[in-house]
Amino acid sequence: MADRFGTPAYVYDLDEVTRAHDLLRAALPQPSRLLYSLKANPHPAIVRTLTALGCGAEVCSVGELATALDAGAAPEHVQYTGPGKTDAEVAEAVKSGVRWFSVDSPTGLDQVTSAADRADGPATILLRVNGTATAPGQGLAMTGVPSQFGADEAWARRHLTAVRDRIAGFHLFQGTNLADEAALLAQFDAALQTAARLAAATGYRPRVLNLGGGFGVPFARSGALPRFPALADVLAARLDAMFPGWRDGAPAVVFESGRYLTAACGSLLTRVTDVKRSHGRPVVVLESGVNHLGGMSGLRRLPPIVPELVAGDGEPRATLREAIIAGPLCTPLDTWARSADVPELRPGDLVRVPNVGAYGLSASLLAFLGRPAPREVVHARGAVTEVSQPAVVRLPAEPIEGT
Ligand SMILES: *Cc1c(COP(=O)(O)O)cnc(C)c1O
Repeated sequence: MADRFGTPAYVYDLDEVTRAHDLLRAALPQPSRLLYSLKANPHPAIVRTLTALGCGAEVCSVGELATALDAGAAPEHVQYTGPGKTDAEVAEAVKSGVRWFSVDSPTGLDQVTSAADRADGPATILLRVNGTATAPGQGLAMTGVPSQFGADEAWARRHLTAVRDRIAGFHLFQGTNLADEAALLAQFDAALQTAARLAAATGYRPRVLNLGGGFGVPFARSGALPRFPALADVLAARLDAMFPGWRDGAPAVVFESGRYLTAACGSLLTRVTDVKRSHGRPVVVLESGVNHLGGMSGLRRLPPIVPELVAGDGEPRATLREAIIAGPLCTPLDTWARSADVPELRPGDLVRVPNVGAYGLSASLLAFLGRPAPREVVHARGAVTEVSQPAVVRLPAEPIEGT
């Protein structure tokens, strides 16, 4: 692949997307719906694959919405999520036929209600709730702590009776990247308890329960997709106890996943451009830095990224101890690892970072420093199906009318 299409390149295996989908589906209680969160990887071939497998789409922008619709998602199977939606994007989504909105606040509830009224279309609003308890073992906590996500449970409890005719149920996505089954179960339990507390306090019966997801996978290091052998049965028993109508779709149970569905399908291939010593420490410089992978580490700490040697000159390699692994950008923040033990890498070596099909390229600082983006090579059943290269382009813009 590297010889044929050059480096840096993201390589996506669609068969792995299908495999991950089948594993996750088998781990979820039935009946339930599964949405693909485009945030993890909006590559059209991946979205098409998951749509064809029956996933709905969870989108957070008009760009993601357009990608989902182009990929064949039916607008009525799209859920539009996210804090701080603008009136214009909500209006555009309603116009495109989107009916499912997750709203995060009283303002968001009014916004979607009036956009739907204006368009004469029904909106199916899920009230995203920030519950009072935070679940243990969470990667990025989004609930039980002050946050931009969701309306506080206390607010929901006070106002549910007034807004019950406008909402279809609850959205309880709590956090991401839980690889441990017990932590996942604790999180779903916290979500179900939040929903049950609200239902008990107000007599409201949700028609839809979106329990979120957060199914974890090793990021940027090798490792198999975690299995969740007990999840379906334990969750089904909890649902039987708390929302007994769920087996007949009342409430309909929904899950969302980005990471689990796509992490394992993708690797980044890149090359070593320089190796030197600095103040006694080895420094390995790559063609790819936080412009191609791990850009979000500037916002939240990621574990170190240590690429694997794929192909070199065939000579035996000693180990470089405590190496700095850096990208080519002119900032000390462009560092994947500050102290890694790696084979003695040499300029020209091909290296690979596995499990970066999720939160890889689209979560990186592509615009920073103007280097070309990696190519994206898609293959399935042993054959390359498409190759493309995203780019940041500058378009002319006009003043806003009427100013
Ligand atoms: C990010 C996000 C997801 C996807 O999370 P993964 O960990 O990638 O599965 C799903 N739902 C919401 C609301 C999100 O913000």
